[in-house]
Amino acid sequence: MAVPRILIVGGGYVGMYTALRLQRRLHRGEAQITVADNDSYMTYQPFLPEAAAGSIEARHVVVPLRRVLRSCEILSGRVTSVRLADRKAEVKPHEGPDLTLDYDYLVLAPGSVSRLLPIPGLAESGIGFKTVEEAIHLRNHVLGRMDVAASTTDDDIRRRALTFVFVGGGFAGVEALAELEDMAAHASRYFRGIHRDDMRWILVEATDRILPEVGPDMGRWTARQLSERGVEVKMGTLLKSAEGCHIVLDDGDEFDTDTLVWTAGVKPNPIVRAGDLPLDEKGRVRATPFLRIEGTDFAFTGGDAAAVPDLTRPGQLCPPNAQHAVRQARRLAGNLLATLRGRELKPYRHQSAGSVASLGLYKGVAQVYGREVRGYPAWFMHRTYHLTRMPTLNKKSRILADWTLGLFFPREIVSLGAVQNPREEFTLAARM
Ligand SMILES: Cc1cc2nc3c(=O)[nH]c(=O)nc-3n(C[C@H](O)[C@H](O)[C@H](O)COP(=O)(O)OP(=O)(O)OC[C@H]3O[C@@H](n4cnc5c(N)ncnc54)[C@H](O)[C@@H]3O)c2cc1C
Repeated sequence: MAVPRILIVGGGYVGMYTALRLQRRLHRGEAQITVADNDSYMTYQPFLPEAAAGSIEARHVVVPLRRVLRSCEILSGRVTSVRLADRKAEVKPHEGPDLTLDYDYLVLAPGSVSRLLPIPGLAESGIGFKTVEEAIHLRNHVLGRMDVAASTTDDDIRRRALTFVFVGGGFAGVEALAELEDMAAHASRYFRGIHRDDMRWILVEATDRILPEVGPDMGRWTARQLSERGVEVKMGTLLKSAEGCHIVLDDGDEFDTDTLVWTAGVKPNPIVRAGDLPLDEKGRVRATPFLRIEGTDFAFTGGDAAAVPDLTRPGQLCPPNAQHAVRQARRLAGNLLATLRGRELKPYRHQSAGSVASLGLYKGVAQVYGREVRGYPAWFMHRTYHLTRMPTLNKKSRILADWTLGLFFPREIVSLGAVQNPREEFTLAARM
């Protein structure tokens, strides 16, 4: 009898943790697992802001799928469609012909993508903050702009280089801005002619609050903290246009910038629309409380791409965050095994424990089980919580070593922006 194939689409939080659990629990020959992901690694996104600030080496926040999922087949490529009716998925490998994969069981976990709005110039001028590549780029870019500003006599170029705009006051935007501002403030000590106050850091948020994840009081406290650090927190403000990197806000402010980071929300990965998956009005895959895709008994889903009922808040859905994703993966793997073995499934239920956020070195904010924590204790909680959640002892140890070295040595202030154009020197030499 053929061994059933479990296809896992997406090797992120839900995909990787599900595969890890299945790999440990499956008996020999019970099923084979294929994980298809565009990347060959899982990204621990909550550490991206610290990676951008250089507190953690960027390679340490990603987990190589081939190393941790030794019993699984790893396919590097973009899944372009998933069909339930004939149990097939189309994959576009990075090179070579497209593949059609048959599966017996499906785990659909492609996560989310940045939700862009039709704002003139946004797609051309902006960058998101969801991937390790974006975090590395932003670190190099911010330090590179400081290099430019310190070396020019042109006031316009200098002003533009030292203006950094973040749109979206959720977790990703606030943490990314706060960590990068903290890094740039530290770096400015080594740039003759650039003082911390010469830089303009702007947070633009459409609603009247930031960091809704930690509650209104802590959101207000965070806004005050950022303002005291010199960050312009513009709440109730919309980005109207960003053409040619000229920013126009609806409060009448207009200026030029080389840095526009868009973190104003996410939407389910659009691949869920390519196929015959049942979707809700926001384009999320409809899931049952057992994490099965509605109308099937062989396909499962979870994470940012799925509409999973939150049984602790009747009538509502689980928010798209890592806290749920990791626990859904555990339940999902358990229910898939139960399906394979003809046992009873259990519903997914998790009461949110709260949220922690880092706002730069030794600064943080948290709301945990209703208790509000701020400053150093919150920052410490953020680091210890995420360190315990980081997959593999190898990565945990490396991150701990990064932090420990950071206590004794100053952060690196070099921009390696040239890695994005590594052949430039060589082609220049060829022309000489
Ligand atoms: C900067 C930042 C900070 C965050 N901080 C926190 C935090 O502090 N606490 C918290 O709870 N949550 C946090 N989150 C949210 C959390 O990271 C997400 O909710 C979680 O990653 C969702 O898990 P997922 O498995 O659904 O998606 P992901 O982890 O994003 O995994 C999706 C996977 O699918 C792959 N994929 C996508 N498209 C395709 C395709 N077409 N073919 C093949 N593979 C594909 C991707 O490469 C990726 O590996 C943060 C997010 C960001 C961006």
